[in-house]
Amino acid sequence: MEPKKALITGITGQDGSYLAELLLSRGYEVHGLIRRASTFNTSRIDHILGSDGYVEPHDSSIKLYLHYGDLSDAEQINNIIYNVKPDEVYHLGAQSHVRVSFDIPEYTGNVTALGTTRILEAIRRSGLDIRFYQASSSEMFGGAEPPQDEETCFVPRSPYACAKLYSYWMAKNYREGYDMFASNGILFNHESPRRGETFVTRKITRGIAAILAKKAKYLYLGNLDAKRDWGFSPEYVEAMWMMLQAEKSDDFVIGTGETHSINEFLDEAFSYVGLNIDDHVRIDQKYFRPTEVDALRADPTKAEKDLGWKAKVTFKDLVKIMLDADLRAAGVEVPGEGDEIIQKKFETKWWKGD
Ligand code: NDP
Ligand code: GDP
Repeated sequence: MEPKKALITGITGQDGSYLAELLLSRGYEVHGLIRRASTFNTSRIDHILGSDGYVEPHDSSIKLYLHYGDLSDAEQINNIIYNVKPDEVYHLGAQSHVRVSFDIPEYTGNVTALGTTRILEAIRRSGLDIRFYQASSSEMFGGAEPPQDEETCFVPRSPYACAKLYSYWMAKNYREGYDMFASNGILFNHESPRRGETFVTRKITRGIAAILAKKAKYLYLGNLDAKRDWGFSPEYVEAMWMMLQAEKSDDFVIGTGETHSINEFLDEAFSYVGLNIDDHVRIDQKYFRPTEVDALRADPTKAEKDLGWKAKVTFKDLVKIMLDADLRAAGVEVPGEGDEIIQKKFETKWWKGD
């Protein structure tokens, strides 16, 4: 039987890289949309490519193919869908940073909102039977009281959240209007050693590693009172895959069900390495946002009931996993509890390179 084909937008991002590994481990032929950049932007998938950034994998048993394109370029998106003819499209590409979306609201709308329409239209016009996953976000809940589930009203509080909400509704409209298989995964924050360096969790774990490596003394942050439901990215990409294997398309909230403040993240992280927060953390107004999302906490009951998905990695586990990886990268002593958690909680670890 022919292997299933998947197209991933955002394959060079945190989730795209884990998802590519998951799908390859399940025998898929994987295609990814990448942007042309003047520097290598494939560092998160280089270990799969087995190369230093060249386009073709060296190992011919790995069916991973990269295509240049951009979410602002409908023509090329149409070409890729037409030529690849994927069975499943995982649309993860986006201008994904909330703080940055206040600086570039129009660009964020073009890529994060209209980019979704370009893909949905390309699928519709192809006439092919393609299953579509939309990377929706808990940021869409914004100002709504936690816990948030599939029935909670959306109160977006940033240009990013507005753009994601537009995409969420477009996916639903294509499902209802054209009978397309289009599912929204409303994922709460999820992190990993591959998380973008300017998101708060990774900024803290990298900052601590730099302090221990004597490369920095202070870590500058913004609002420490905001609360998030933080989970572990490799588990969340499994939920994406499960959504596209379900009998019918639907919308699912994915999260741990726990919420913690940035202050609590700092407490866990600094105590894990025996440093004092007050000696190293400083507040800088530039990291505050014009409108903030105060508290997010998922109610993931539906995902557990309908998909059989449940988070295994807790908040405390996540802090240790991320710190172990960043300490190792900085060449400083690694306590190793994070490595043990991965070994204990994942019988078969299908992702590599962390
Ligand atoms: P990342 O920021 O790590 O990855 C974003 C990806 O989108 C990168 O591959 C990036 O390419 C690509 N991209 C950005 N702009 C364009 C463009 N104009 N054309 C083509 N590709 C583009 O995000 P994550 O992996 O963390 O998240 C995946 C998706 O899930 C995103 O849509 C995000 O908004 C959403 N999401 C994430 C959550 C989280 O907590 N991580 C929570 C809920 C939703 P490049 O590498 O070249 O920059
Ligand atoms: P978000 O939930 O998608 O916006 O993920 P982030 O990791 O960017 O931010 C999570 C929370 O951390 C938000 O409430 C931010 O205001 C807060 N935060 C505090 N300091 C910082 C910082 O220095 N950088 C970032 N990115 N967020 C910060």
